[in-house]
Amino acid sequence: MPRYVRFTFLGKHRWGIADDSGVTPLAGTPYEGTPAATSEQLPWDVIALLPPATPTKIIAIGRNYAAHAAELGNAVPERPLMFLKPPSCVIAHQDAIVYPSVESKLVHHEGELAVVIGRRCKNVAASEAGDVIFGYTLMNDVTARDLQRLDVQFTRGKGFDTFGPCGPWVDTDFSPSDQQLRVEVNGEVRQQASLDTMIFDVPTLVAYVSRVMTLEPGDLISTGTPSGVGPLVPGDSVSVTVAGLGTLTNSVVSDGRAR
Ligand code: MG
Repeated sequence: MPRYVRFTFLGKHRWGIADDSGVTPLAGTPYEGTPAATSEQLPWDVIALLPPATPTKIIAIGRNYAAHAAELGNAVPERPLMFLKPPSCVIAHQDAIVYPSVESKLVHHEGELAVVIGRRCKNVAASEAGDVIFGYTLMNDVTARDLQRLDVQFTRGKGFDTFGPCGPWVDTDFSPSDQQLRVEVNGEVRQQASLDTMIFDVPTLVAYVSRVMTLEPGDLISTGTPSGVGPLVPGDSVSVTVAGLGTLTNSVVSDGRAR
C-alpha cells in the first residue's frame, strides 16, 4: 500500500489509487510528489487497467538467479547481464500475449519483480537507490527461446509486441526482502523462489544500470527470473504473483497464422 494504477474510463487514461472496492482517480501523475486525489470513486467493473508505467525503456536483467542460469546451461555472471525490451511490448494485466506462430515454436514465461523508476537520474549510488525508485510491480519477460538462442542477441526473442505483461499495480511501500515469487500456468506452479536469492540485488542493479544510461520516470528494471521457465502455448493462462504486489494474469492467444 498505496497501490497506484493506470486505467481507462470513458476513453481517458488516468492514474488512480486502488483499493478493494475500486479506484480513486488522481489529478495528475504520481511521480513528482503525490497529486491530489479527486472526489470520484470508480468501481472495478467500470474501468480497464492499463500497464502501471509508461517506460521510455525496459532494462531487463538476465541470469540473476543461479538455478535459472544453470537450467539454461549458463554460468552465473560476474556482473549484471542487461538487455533492453522495447516499450512497445508492454501490455496490462488481463491483456493477451499473442503467440508469434510463424517466427517461433518455443515461447517461455519468465515471471519477474520489476522496479519502477520515479525520477530522472544518472550515476545513482547503490546506497541512494531508494531515492529514485517509485515502487515495484510484476513483469512477465516473455521470451521466444528458440529465437534468443538462434540470434544470440536478445532483441528479437524478447521484443515481440505483447511480450511485456506488466502490473497490476505499483506498490510504493513494497520491500523485496523475504518475499516469494510464484508463476502458475493454468493453475500449475512452474516457478517459485525467494526474491532474496537474486544474485545482484535491486540497489546494485539501479546503480549499475544508471552508470550506463539516464533513467526516466516510469522506466522499468526487470530484475530477472528464477528457475522453472517453460513453454506457453495458445490457450494457456499465465500468472505471476508476489505477496503485496498482487497477481499479473495474462492469457496466450494465437496470432491466427499457421504454426
Ligand atoms: Mg528475464
